[in-house]
Amino acid sequence: MSFPDVICEKVDLYNKLNGDHPFVVHEFKNSYLVVGDHYFYKGYCMLFTKRHVRELHELTDTETTELALELKKATQVINDIFKPWKMNHMLLGNQAQHIHWHIIPRYEDDQYHKSYPFSDVMKGEVDLSDYAHTDESAKELADLIRKNWD
Ligand SMILES: [Zn+2]
Repeated sequence: MSFPDVICEKVDLYNKLNGDHPFVVHEFKNSYLVVGDHYFYKGYCMLFTKRHVRELHELTDTETTELALELKKATQVINDIFKPWKMNHMLLGNQAQHIHWHIIPRYEDDQYHKSYPFSDVMKGEVDLSDYAHTDESAKELADLIRKNWD
């Protein structure tokens, strides 16, 4: 993927809108917490770094520390609302090569809850597009998370 990537484009847009976008939950110093693309996992969100960085080891030490605390705060609030069985985090970036964490609450009633979060999808059993957020449903989740922010 070439620079600027799809996440750079989104960060750019959120900056222009001062974070006023249905998918934006919260603007941190180093990142945006945004609603995930789908609601297959209730409360699924993502954390995008504002700066274009491809690899974790390319962050400064200060960014690393601050981002860890931003990720922790986002995780804590989502956990408090949805009380999942387990919180999962994924940092891959093979497609969008710009640091972004998937923050995925996992629930015991998901038959795949002890597996990689997208294993069911990979087996072709679930089509995530069936669960795609609309602007309305994204804003509803963003509002709920903001309401529980302290
Ligand atoms: Zn980027």
